[in-house]
Amino acid sequence: TRAGLDLKALIRTIPDYPKPGVLFRDVTTLLANPAGLRASIDELIWPFLGAPLDHVAGIEARGFILGGAVAHELGRGFVPIRKKGKLPYATIGQDYELEYGVDTVEIHADAIGPGDKVLLVDDLVATGGTADAAIDLIRKSGGEVVAACFVIDLPDLGGAERLRRKGVTVHTLLAFE
Ligand code: IMP
Repeated sequence: TRAGLDLKALIRTIPDYPKPGVLFRDVTTLLANPAGLRASIDELIWPFLGAPLDHVAGIEARGFILGGAVAHELGRGFVPIRKKGKLPYATIGQDYELEYGVDTVEIHADAIGPGDKVLLVDDLVATGGTADAAIDLIRKSGGEVVAACFVIDLPDLGGAERLRRKGVTVHTLLAFE
């Protein structure tokens, strides 16, 4: 990073979580590090400084932490995208495929207005399924996804490419093979 910090070294890797054979990239150690958190937010926002933008949307749960800080730094409001049944007001939903079964993400029906420009934030893109559904939600709401940004990309799983094929600009800070 510009701050000369090795962000990758601040990510903890946990083998066999949540199931055998998976290497879980744990960002809580990065979030807990003051210089690491500061540098992560600085690096996430720089392409969007001065860009036309109406909202920052974050995906539950770690996308709330990063997205809240990004929204604050960019001087925009924050819009939560949550798992099914968590938002109190009228919602729009989008199903997406999991390895086994289907999940749903939701957004408040009035959170994004027609033509609003939205920056999407999450901690990590793997297959891109979650972000893909979040992008569909924003588009269903009438919004335009300016870009999707993530601290971590797992390029072997192809998620960033999948989002680019949907016409979304993707910004990531570091990659794990
Ligand atoms: P995808 O939908 O396959 O791209 O998975 C991305 C979603 O799952 C994001 O919301 C991530 O927070 C979460 N996720 C998947 N793998 C990991 C991991 O290794 N560490 C942290 N989060 C992960």
